[in-house]
Amino acid sequence: MGLSAYLPGNHVDAMAMGFTFIMIPTSYLHGVLYIAPTIWPTNDPNLPKDVAEANAVPYYCCVFFMTFLFLNTYANLILTVTVDTTCGRVPLPVVSQPGWYFCPFCRYYAPPRAHHCPTCQRCVLRRDHHCFFAAKCIGYYNHRYFIAFLIYLTISSIVGVVSSFVAITYLAGGFSIAFIPALALPVLAWIFQIMPVNPIVMLEASVALFVTFGAGGLLTLQIIMILRGQTYHEFQKSISVYGKSKISNIVEVMGKNWWFCWFLPFIPSPRPGDGAHYPPRDRGGMAGGQNQGGVGGEGFSSHAGKRKLVKST
Ligand SMILES: [Zn+2]
Ligand SMILES: [Zn+2]
Repeated sequence: MGLSAYLPGNHVDAMAMGFTFIMIPTSYLHGVLYIAPTIWPTNDPNLPKDVAEANAVPYYCCVFFMTFLFLNTYANLILTVTVDTTCGRVPLPVVSQPGWYFCPFCRYYAPPRAHHCPTCQRCVLRRDHHCFFAAKCIGYYNHRYFIAFLIYLTISSIVGVVSSFVAITYLAGGFSIAFIPALALPVLAWIFQIMPVNPIVMLEASVALFVTFGAGGLLTLQIIMILRGQTYHEFQKSISVYGKSKISNIVEVMGKNWWFCWFLPFIPSPRPGDGAHYPPRDRGGMAGGQNQGGVGGEGFSSHAGKRKLVKST
């Protein structure tokens, strides 16, 4: 893919992608340079030496854990953006096949479960959805990294909320009921002068709280769809054609090493297919690779008469 394939397709994507790529390292640096030393001070000259030494172990453990979470979150985000999951990745036929459909924009026959993304301007293999925050479609080949990204983003956000709350309690000299509105609506709390600590600390905690709910909610939805063997498009349309056993459905997205590949993005985890061929489960003689109700069939049936030679990409 050329460089243009990695760039945002519109202004909304550019802003969302910029927010993601800037906010994650900013939050990480805030955690290791301010929150962790606030909870476990080690360089405070007023601190007794034995207390400073006792703080060193939890402080470095916390920094190590935050660094591990950050590197995994960022690496999986970069791989989500850069791994090619378009139909150009697989050999495409020059004549129509059952279940395949002709994309008038890409001008080739795309396989079942692929869909054209108007923002990416490409047909995407087993397209799940277009992610604004990655400015990229989530499809067959980058879905694994997207799931790992959501897992680490959710854990990082929970760690951010808890550690920030402890640091705020420490800085404010104890718990206050004013923490709750300040955490939920930090700008209003700042305007009405009920901000218990530095507004930047409270704003970071508030962002972590909202990301926890956002990323955690999306991860939950993704897990439900993966277990059912559905993409987001199929979930919306109540299409359930390709689902198999729960383990097989997980392997299709996360690969054969699904049970530990999420630990590091560089652990290989080959998937059973190529993203283009999906034999549907047997439904009373309907199996055998025939196109079935709605999955890719929208395109196939409406463009079936437009068979023409197209080049493979
Ligand atoms: Zn297309
Ligand atoms: Zn897209």
